[in-house]
Amino acid sequence: MKVSQDYRTKEALLELYNKPLLELVFEAATVHRLHHDPREVQMSSLLSIKTGGCAEDCGYCPQAARYHTDVDAQKIMTVESVLEQARNAKENGSSRLCMGAAWREVRDNKDFDSVIEMVQGVNDLDMEVCCTLGMMNEDQAVRLKNAGLFAYNHNLDTSKDYYDDVISTREYEDRLNTIDNARKAGISVCSGGIIGMGEAVEDRVGLLMSYMEMDTPPESIPINALVAVEGTPMEDQKPIEQWEMIRMVATTRIAFPQSVVRLSAGRTKMSMEGQALCFMAGASSIFAGDKLLTTPNPEYNEDMEMFKILGLTPKAAFSDGDKPETKPDEILDARKAKEAARALELKAARAKVEGFEPRKVTTVGSL
Ligand code: SF4
Repeated sequence: MKVSQDYRTKEALLELYNKPLLELVFEAATVHRLHHDPREVQMSSLLSIKTGGCAEDCGYCPQAARYHTDVDAQKIMTVESVLEQARNAKENGSSRLCMGAAWREVRDNKDFDSVIEMVQGVNDLDMEVCCTLGMMNEDQAVRLKNAGLFAYNHNLDTSKDYYDDVISTREYEDRLNTIDNARKAGISVCSGGIIGMGEAVEDRVGLLMSYMEMDTPPESIPINALVAVEGTPMEDQKPIEQWEMIRMVATTRIAFPQSVVRLSAGRTKMSMEGQALCFMAGASSIFAGDKLLTTPNPEYNEDMEMFKILGLTPKAAFSDGDKPETKPDEILDARKAKEAARALELKAARAKVEGFEPRKVTTVGSL
């Protein structure tokens, strides 16, 4: 049962969302125990592989080039440094690495080839690899899948009705198409939203309705609370109460019994008790590490302490699906072969120059 048959309409879902909180949490906890091990929580790490300078205008995002925030545009990280970070994350208990690039869309260029190599490398480390790279077409999704991508993240963010108040540079339909492309390529879908952006409760429920209407809902649904960043259009939004986060997590859990509900951005504003209620209500993943792309997140040691107190255990990689096989990527291999041939040519040319001895000219007498 991927979708709860009891809450298939907006009215039913709204009624559920508005239930007395403890009843809602109890119902969510009951559903959670039927489909998941309530003691297991996945630790995922989020790594910004290409920060800032994004052409989009998502109103909550400090990485949009048009907003004056303290996030500077950077080049894409090297494959080696990403793999080093992935190894560190794994040593610290993360079983999933989500790599984010501040792109409007994936382009078929050298940077995307690097992402393919990163995905191959992280999959080889036996970690679940997730990417969030903006919009992508079907061919690009297939390349990622063949590289060993486990999941693709592309959030709908909010309801279709409220979407235009948040983003104007692309349509809701564009987002749905990218999710569809990931799905067609056989990649597990991670898609969720952000609450606290000034939306109505109906929009929170509307977001969940968008997932209800899909043939297959996302396997993973991250729930974020807005982190209002100075310089963005949402800088003045008041932080939401943690009860709202708990309510959203619980409603999502009940509506999508088999999906993984992820407690994502905004955790720094929650008490341990608030987070405990989220776990009780069915959240079974957190992002570990002190940064979530560019916003603060609780430190690793604090999380470990919380796991100990609450009796939680980190979930192993590939508990919710088989490890994807990494297949050779023709485009990447051709580029590497070309670069290797070019490097050899340069080396030979350099050796020629170094071995060159100017011919000695002997002058006889004077002209
Ligand atoms: S959320 Fe993503 S697409 Fe939107 S501005 Fe930020 S980096 Fe760009």
